[in-house]
This record gives sequence, structure tokens and C-alpha cells, in this order.
Amino acid sequence: MLLHELALDPAAAPDSAPALVTMDGTWSRGDLRAAVADLARAASTVTRPGGRVAIVSDSRPEVVALLLAVPAAGRVAVPINVRLTPDEVVGQLDRTGVEAVVGTEEELDRLAGVLPEAATLVTRVGLDPGAGDISLESLAAAPAPALTDPPGPDDPAWIIATSGTTGTAKGAVLTARSLGAAVATTAAARPLAEDEVYLYPFPLYHVSVYNVLHALSRGRPVVLPRRFDAATICALAEAHRVTAMSLAPTMLRLLLDHRAAQDDSATVLADLRTVAYGAAPMPPALLAEADEALGVAFAQGYGMTELSGNAVFLGPDDHRRGLAGETHLLGAAGRPGPGVELRIVDDRGGSVAPGGRGEVCVRAAQVCAGYWRDPTATQAAIRDGWMHTGDVGVIDGEGVLTIVDRAKDIIVTGGENVASREVEDVIGQHPAVSRVAVVGVPDDRWGEAVCAVLVLRPGTGHDAATVRAEVLEVARTRLAGFKVPKRVVLADDLPVNAGGKVVKADLRRQLAGRPA
Ligand code: ATP
Ligand code: MG
Repeated sequence: MLLHELALDPAAAPDSAPALVTMDGTWSRGDLRAAVADLARAASTVTRPGGRVAIVSDSRPEVVALLLAVPAAGRVAVPINVRLTPDEVVGQLDRTGVEAVVGTEEELDRLAGVLPEAATLVTRVGLDPGAGDISLESLAAAPAPALTDPPGPDDPAWIIATSGTTGTAKGAVLTARSLGAAVATTAAARPLAEDEVYLYPFPLYHVSVYNVLHALSRGRPVVLPRRFDAATICALAEAHRVTAMSLAPTMLRLLLDHRAAQDDSATVLADLRTVAYGAAPMPPALLAEADEALGVAFAQGYGMTELSGNAVFLGPDDHRRGLAGETHLLGAAGRPGPGVELRIVDDRGGSVAPGGRGEVCVRAAQVCAGYWRDPTATQAAIRDGWMHTGDVGVIDGEGVLTIVDRAKDIIVTGGENVASREVEDVIGQHPAVSRVAVVGVPDDRWGEAVCAVLVLRPGTGHDAATVRAEVLEVARTRLAGFKVPKRVVLADDLPVNAGGKVVKADLRRQLAGRPA
């Protein structure tokens, strides 16, 4: 099944049903189907079979249509992170050998100075009237050659860049088969209710976009804010009675803060029944606060770009057990979805016994086809069908996976290993702390020193020195001495990427230049 067939399955809902709901209006499934047909023709006019079409835009219905239409035409969609600098965008266009760039007027203007320098000859297609060399609308209306070689489910459909949290982003090649498998696993592990109204606040160039495929494939409407903004999301949720949302922990934090600042806070997010979270570790204190404030069911997903979405799930029942006192479950990633195999391996690739730490490896139909034109990186990451995630984890006797940390975030201090996440979970429980990130900074004596960077919650009246002392006190009582931060730094904000994750490499760089 190709992506447009999956998303627009006529058995899931009639063409008159809403598909994409925005601030500007609603596209029905019929509207989306017609746009996909037109844009598939447009894609085949500006590129050769198998050619790459970049998309540079905020979240709009046309982008969803392009994500379905480009692969339907046997071309490859390359959605681009709009937070990249123009030079970074051009680097990505060059690496993927893009032949056409579809962009909004704003984005094409931003790229105007650099696009001609791209190594490939690129056609600029405007999403807004008047932008680019040619408008998407006129392309879609023009006659196009018939498809000679229809695409198959194993052809590259999308090249999605990883979030770049640990270094330069890599282009994961996703296919209709890998994405379809991720949707099927998620649908089984975390089904959408018959009357669900789903809001998708992540950017459409992030792998979590597979959730949009999931909702559409089940005939559910997708409410689509142009970008993450707490006030807009709460307004859309109210107007369209949104019942379910996917959120990164940082997004949940911002929504709770926005909600608490409203006079009629009880009416904000009032229809919400389910919060599906993932993408980064969830601080237990934040989960407890959200439970108290929203009274919703929680579902967690652990996944990565290279897995076309989530593969491991912690459902509402486990959350209820966790919130009722089985706290180890709250920090857990969960259980593998149907068809997903999990393994923990040591440095030499041998299996680790249950309860032991090692690298998390995943084998499933949702593993990507590899990194775009990078066989060396592909072979290093995917061996015998097993995706080596770079995450350190433990599987307990019940088969529940807990992510200890990213291998690259583990701090080695005085010969001891410290999981940054464990320290963050303890410090994050201080009521004055809004967000915290723990990183290792180079240290003459310890090799690396544990350093905590805190963002204080506004309006709690705590002064910085007291919070610093209290945080250290909590850490000393709850953690072994070598895990207690050697430095506690207060910051106005943490560097966060488009996937809602703290970019610890940036933090380490900032801290390296600061006096202790
Ligand atoms: P890059 O690979 O470019 O450094 P990235 O790994 O952040 O960036 P993604 O593919 O977007 O790029 O993210 C996958 C990673 O996110 C996982 O390997 C894991 O570290 C983290 N992650 C995802 N879901 C969860 C979760 N539920 N709990 C904890 N960590 C998670
Ligand atoms: Mg990664």
C-alpha cells in the first residue's frame, strides 16, 4: 500500500469527512484526495522519476498533500527543517540531490540568496501565489506525462532528517512499507477512539508526522496548527473540541504554563482525553503535575526517525499504576508494539541478560531503508536488520524497557558513569524548577564534571541562591555523591530543537566558555 492509499482509505471515512482542520478552514478527505492527484502530476512535471522534491514550509494542508503526492508520483519528498539557516538548508538540498524546492513565499525569499549556489539545478515552486519560478497551483493544473513506472512500497518515499540532537542530522530513508508498519504498530498499541479529534503540534518535517498518517488512515480529522504556540493550540483545541494530542515533554510544560496563566483555566483543554508523549524523556514531576491539572489518560511512545515513528509504548494502564505508586513505570519507555523485537546488547554486540544495561536494538518492519547515500553510516547503524539506537536501556522481567540515557549523554566523572537523566529527574522535582538539563563539562580533576542547568519557574518567589542550595541538598540526599552536580547554573532558557529536545551539545559548548 502506498502512503496516499493508506491515509485516504475510502473504507475509513467518506470523502465528505474532515481531514485537515486549520485556523483558515477545513479540507475534507475529498479535498485532500483531489490535491494529492493534482500535486502528484505537478511533481512529475518538475522532476525525473525517483527525483527528490524538497518542501520548505510551516505546517499547512498543502504540505500534507505533498507528502502523500510526491511518493505517489514515484518521487521522494524531502521535508526541510525551517529553523535551519539558509546555508544549512542548501547543504541538505545538496546532500539529497534535490531537483525541485516547494516553499512558501517567506521561505523562498529567505533562501533567495543561496539557492542558485546549490550544486543541482533546482526549480523553485511557490506555495503562495507569485512566489518562486512557478506556482504550485499552476503546475498542478498543467497537463503532465503519464506515469511509466508506478512506484512500489519499498521505494524511498520520504527522506527525513534526524533531529540533530547529538550532532549533524542524518537523512533517514523511509518507505511506504516502513511507515505503514509504524502506523500499524501504533494503531494496535495505541488505538484512536471512533470519535477522536487529533491535534498534531510537531512540525511536518519531524518523523512524528507518521501520527498524521495514522489519524487519517483511521478516518480521524487532524487539527493542524502552523507551528507550536501554546495560545494557538489551546484556541484550536477549544474551537474543534480536540480530544487527543501528541506532545514532547517541553510542549506539555508550555501548555501547562499557558493554561495556569488563564483566568478560566478549567476551560482550557477541557475536551482533551489523551496525551500521547514521547521524543524525549518525560520528567516524572511534570507527568504528575499534568495528571493533576488535566486528568487525562497518558500514552508514551519511544521511537526514532530511523524507526519511522514509535516502536515501544507505555499505555494508560501502566501510567495509572505508575501514578498510583509504581513509580518505576513512569520513567519507562514501555513494551514493544506488535511485530517489534527488542534486544539489549553490550559493547561487543552480545545480548545482555534481563535487568542489565546496554544499547537498545530494535528489529521490525518499520526500520528505515538506511541513511540516504551513506552506506557506511547505514551499515554501522543497521546490522542483520537490527537498528542500533545509540540509547542505553534496561529491560525488566516484565519486558518493560527503560531508557537510561543516550549513550552520548552519559557522563563519565572520576571513572563512574552517571546517567544525566537520573539527575534531571531528581532535580526536576524541586517546585521552583521549570526545566533542567544535566551535562558533563570537561574538568581537570574529574575528567567530566556533572553540571546542572536550571530554568526557574516564573513567579514562585524563590531566589536563585536558595534554589541552588536546595537543589544540591535534594541531590545529596537522593543520589550517590559522584552523581551530585559540581556546578549548578541558572539560565533563562535551554537550547531546544524543533523536535522539542534539549540540544546538550549546544549547552556543553555554552558552559565551556563560562566561568564556574
Ligand atoms: P540525532 O540522531 O540527529 O542526534 P535524535 O536522535 O534526537 O537526533 P530523533 O530520531 O528525532 O533524532 O530522536 C530519536 C531519539 O529520541 C531516540 O534515540 C531517544 O534518544 C529519544 N527518544 C525518543 N522517544 C523517547 C522517549 N519516549 N523517551 C526517551 N527518549 C526518547
Ligand atoms: Mg538519533
